[in-house]
Amino acid sequence: MPHDDAPSEEGPTKLVIRNIGLILSGKLEEPIYDGDCIIAENGKIVAWGAEADLDTEGATTTVDAMGCTVAPGLIDSHIHPVVGDYTPRQQQLHWIDSTLHGGVTTLISAGEVHMPGRPKDIVGLKAMAIAAQRWYDNFRPSGMKVHAGAPVIEHGMVEEDFKDLAEAGVKLLGEVGLGTVKDGKTAKEMVGWARKYGIQSTIHTGGPSIPGSGLIDADMVLETGTDVIGHINGGHTALPDDQITCLCESCTAGLEIVHNGNERAALLTLNTARELGCLDRVILGTDGPAGSGVQPLGIMRMVAMLSSLGNIAAEQAFCFATGNTTRQRELDTGMIEEGLCADFVLMDQAQHAPGKTLLESVQLGNLPGVGMTIIDGKVTSGRSRNTPPAGRIPKVV
Ligand SMILES: [Zn+2]
Repeated sequence: MPHDDAPSEEGPTKLVIRNIGLILSGKLEEPIYDGDCIIAENGKIVAWGAEADLDTEGATTTVDAMGCTVAPGLIDSHIHPVVGDYTPRQQQLHWIDSTLHGGVTTLISAGEVHMPGRPKDIVGLKAMAIAAQRWYDNFRPSGMKVHAGAPVIEHGMVEEDFKDLAEAGVKLLGEVGLGTVKDGKTAKEMVGWARKYGIQSTIHTGGPSIPGSGLIDADMVLETGTDVIGHINGGHTALPDDQITCLCESCTAGLEIVHNGNERAALLTLNTARELGCLDRVILGTDGPAGSGVQPLGIMRMVAMLSSLGNIAAEQAFCFATGNTTRQRELDTGMIEEGLCADFVLMDQAQHAPGKTLLESVQLGNLPGVGMTIIDGKVTSGRSRNTPPAGRIPKVV
């Protein structure tokens, strides 16, 4: 498979994906699109619909989807990368490649907190954040897009530090609460500075994750006012139910549900969001690598879990892992839309899975089989080595 480590300097490209069985748009308001064909030029989506109505001439790559479902590549809103495709957290290599095989094409760092010897002095933490942003921007493991360089705020930071970080290309804060700042007043001030310079923020919600970390309760989350309520279902320990419902009701921040959290609290969040009419705020992450290891299929498992136990149509559950995250986090991927990146996962109902269709089998709690991933219009992986085998497998023709 092609391995795209550097920006391409080739000529114009045109990707045609034909013979698609079902197009999932990533958009909650219209999760299924009509059509059997998607076209991308130079890595960006340009058209979709019935093949007969589209200009398929001059393709540089043609994929026969063989009747498979095409969805935007899945997005993991909460990971803790360190460097390349290695994590010291569980001494594991190639966890990002394995995640690509789970249909995920974009990862968002919630802080590079597992770096051994992570600097906590201000010049050091800024230097590491800038370096981490660069090393994942310069090197995409197996083609995966990793948005990293997410500093954890520490006491002593001043407004100028956030300005410096933003000017150097840092766009994210790591989880508030993982550093020395554990009071809402200081956190609120720093999150405000971050926001002023265009840096998004998230917060560790719930009990301590590992020895050395601390409790962040609903009052602190609300006072801090981050853009995303990081792992609202705990990572791993969830807040009491009344605090979770209070968080859903009292602000408009993203409601991030993670694999490494409490599944009952995940369902409580989902049901509360549904009652409040704000399912568009629900986004998904794994929180891996972590104490529970890495989860190459974590996002797919969350989609199946929320769809089956939370009674959400599978096509909507896929939006939690795609378009919802795109909108909450202002990404250029995650929906079938003109001008967005041609990042896709092609999948089919797993062999021998109950249900008449892929969507029905997911609603019954089963994972689909991934047959191909595409990033920026280029094929990045074929039949997944991790999912159950798909009934049909797309092919490059
Ligand atoms: Zn956390």
